[in-house]
Amino acid sequence: MVITIELTKRQEHILQIVKDNGPITGEQIADQLNLTRATLRPDLAILTMAGYLDARPRVGYFYTGKSGTQLLTENLQKIYVKEYQSIPVVINENVSVYDAICTMFLEDVGTLFVVDQSTQLVGVLSRKDLLRASIGKQDLTSIPVHIIMTRMPNVTMCERDDLLIDVAKKLIEKQIDALPVVKKTDKGFEVIGRITKTNITRAFVALGEE
Ligand code: ADP
Repeated sequence: MVITIELTKRQEHILQIVKDNGPITGEQIADQLNLTRATLRPDLAILTMAGYLDARPRVGYFYTGKSGTQLLTENLQKIYVKEYQSIPVVINENVSVYDAICTMFLEDVGTLFVVDQSTQLVGVLSRKDLLRASIGKQDLTSIPVHIIMTRMPNVTMCERDDLLIDVAKKLIEKQIDALPVVKKTDKGFEVIGRITKTNITRAFVALGEE
């Protein structure tokens, strides 16, 4: 995944030359710019890797006709959940609300995934779920999390091979912070990862920097 959004003046100039004259060899571009082929090589490599230009052996360079936005969109369609997922924090459905709060602090996460005895996903616990349960006068050590969690089948999930952009859309649409990454099993769904808004932000930054 390579993308260059900010092109240098020289790269813009090369693009224009190829647009007007392509297919054109590196040598011919260099002549038009009064530069050597060697000086031009890094720019041509960048423009080709970023998808603005295509190169065919013995033919030369030609313009792909793709804008920076189109290329960005294309690159977004190549980022998968498995490249950015984090390790999930999972608790048993019978754990108390008190212990879940402790786990959230200790593990430094905002969402816990709840599983049954056979480690299959049964629910999700967010910070607000735990806050809500803490407002009353109940004894938090005696309320199991399965009472207060968002339960299956209402849990929004994703898989390793899903596109990260689709997961980002789900986070926005459902107004949630995290999604479990699951693997289908005979008994249900095993939690194998998590995607949060932080993972999406990390992918966004990587896309901008590469
Ligand atoms: P917070 O409660 O900290 O704002 P969220 O916005 O993620 O965090 O959670 C809002 C509500 O959505 C909570 O009740 C939570 O249980 C639920 N929720 C969180 N993640 C999911 C998910 N992946 N699928 C379904 N419900 C979820």
